[in-house]
Amino acid sequence: MVIKIGIVGYGTIGKRVADAILLQKDMKLVGITAHNYNWKVKIANERKLKIFSADGKELFEPYGIKIEGDIKDLINESDIIVDCTPKKVGKENKEKYYLTNKVKALFQGGEKPDVAEVSFVAQCNYKEALNKDYVRIVSCNTTGLCRTLNAIDKEYGIEEVHATMIRRGADPWDIRHGPINAIVPVLELPSHHGPDVRTVLPNIEIFTTALSVSSTLMHMHNLIVDCKKTPTVDGVLDLFNKTTRIRLVDNVSMIRSTAEIMEYAKDLGRNTRGDIPEICIWREGVGAYQKKLFYMQAIHQESDVIPENIDAIRAMTGFEDAEKSIKLTNKTLNIK
Ligand code: NAD
Repeated sequence: MVIKIGIVGYGTIGKRVADAILLQKDMKLVGITAHNYNWKVKIANERKLKIFSADGKELFEPYGIKIEGDIKDLINESDIIVDCTPKKVGKENKEKYYLTNKVKALFQGGEKPDVAEVSFVAQCNYKEALNKDYVRIVSCNTTGLCRTLNAIDKEYGIEEVHATMIRRGADPWDIRHGPINAIVPVLELPSHHGPDVRTVLPNIEIFTTALSVSSTLMHMHNLIVDCKKTPTVDGVLDLFNKTTRIRLVDNVSMIRSTAEIMEYAKDLGRNTRGDIPEICIWREGVGAYQKKLFYMQAIHQESDVIPENIDAIRAMTGFEDAEKSIKLTNKTLNIK
């Protein structure tokens, strides 16, 4: 069976999900929506993707963009919609279009958990999304926390986690957000990330804090995990090394910063954007003291959720084998 997919919202996440779908043999990209004219729509048109508009053809015709229809036409041709619009718009679209037209929809982490039946990270709870109509991919930060904490919990058992998120101020293309010269604490305790982790891993006791910094490249997390069994540094490194979608990076090879990770990702040459969807953990940044485990991880916010979208599409359309889906996705996206 080939799954027919429409993408609503063609920005940072939407364009990457579209490219990932084009690499899957069991999926077909029906088309994307355009909201206003911009370079992304221009390139999509040049690449002959089918473009649908929620706001009328007249916005696009002056620029030679071929519009196939409106959002309802896209829904009619699709088995599932991947909604990649900015936060809160996904929920509005659900009420306005997806419920009334009875189409399955996948939402992103900017939406509140109640937009969907399940919050999803493939290697943690794939089976919970089987045949569901509405699923939410959790945010880039929550995805990163879930991938590594799930592995630790299975091996050592987790008593409690304390984690600080050092967040990039904006995506690299974004000229509107910041800060450009400040460190901004998030004065919400716990930050929303801890509760969000529990939408996927309900048994993890986790307390998170966050701050934003003047960088666009990646997020960083510093974690302290109280384990039930005593962890060793070598054991934890081995665990991370064999866990999918986690990549060890090392200071000894001069990867000392998020800037160097992003350059390393480009040099790996695995995809056209220089994305690194794996969660990157510094080998030299893993430490253990009695039952406490410390580590530092970097998250490429624009790409870590892309494989999750692909696996969630399979789960929602009844593909039962989580491991097989993850392997297929990894192979097609050329990731670990
Ligand atoms: P974006 O601003 O890059 O892209 C959103 C796209 O949706 C834009 O192309 C915009 O024109 C379009 N759009 C806006 N309103 C629309 C509407 N009513 N109908 C159709 N299209 C509309 O946003 P993004 O960064 O891709 O974020 C999308 C979702 O993914 C959000 O929930 C966000 O929280 C989540 N997310 C973002 C990141 C990230 O770092 N950028 C990481 C993980 C998850």
